[in-house]
Amino acid sequence: MPELPEVETIRRDLVRMIKDLTIRDIRFFDTRVIRDISPQIFRKNLIGRRVTHIERHGKALVFRLSPGRALLVVQLMMTGQLVLQRELSKDRATKVVFVLSNGQYLLYNDHRVFGRLQIVEDLKAVKYFQILGPEPLARGFTSEILSARLHGRKRPIKNVLLDHTVLAGIGNIYAAEILFAARIHPQRSAIDLAAGEIRWLHRAIKEVLHKAVASRGTSMNTYRDADGQKGKFMNYIRVYGREEEPCPRCRKPIRRITQAGRSTFFCEHCQK
Ligand SMILES: [Zn+2]
Repeated sequence: MPELPEVETIRRDLVRMIKDLTIRDIRFFDTRVIRDISPQIFRKNLIGRRVTHIERHGKALVFRLSPGRALLVVQLMMTGQLVLQRELSKDRATKVVFVLSNGQYLLYNDHRVFGRLQIVEDLKAVKYFQILGPEPLARGFTSEILSARLHGRKRPIKNVLLDHTVLAGIGNIYAAEILFAARIHPQRSAIDLAAGEIRWLHRAIKEVLHKAVASRGTSMNTYRDADGQKGKFMNYIRVYGREEEPCPRCRKPIRRITQAGRSTFFCEHCQK
């Protein structure tokens, strides 16, 4: 599932490749991904509009368009992909094709159809944005803000890091890598972390996510960037998916446990 670094990679690619292009046409192959409005109204709001900017809010992409007030919100969810092509080569996963003013095609592919494309005038109309926590890669995301977000939360820190109402967009792979980098045991209650540990955690969140974005994300299964390429962060993963392999710090075996239905990988000797 694309997480914050993968969605940020897609965003940067799309800004480079389609900013200032106009949507000439839209072809639908499966309208289930269009939420809340009819495909006709969806077309009417987008055709003839120029993409002026693309933002990322958590794991959602927001396309700003001109003229008009309509915003296109894309949530990739489990298996959504946005792929740019010079020659149209769609497959069974292709749900919507945007024809752009330079003759290229932007495909929305979604094998499992959990993703969604919405048109809104105000981001507050989207429930996800109403509940989304602060953006961990923003400059304004400080250790003090992290401390305030963790305040009073008794759940294990691993589960709290995965909660997008606490922090936007950190996924399961990155939560494991962040806690390893910060040397914090994933089962510790968030409320019990000392001030110094929260500072380590804050630094680890920034470092791991920045490195993941610089590596263009992690490809576990269906994630591809806007060029259809896989991410390279797999090469830097230290604990995730490495059960029984030696810890890169102490050489003792990495353990796997399940927390809130998700696998957690960690070193019980290095993470306290
Ligand atoms: Zn270790």
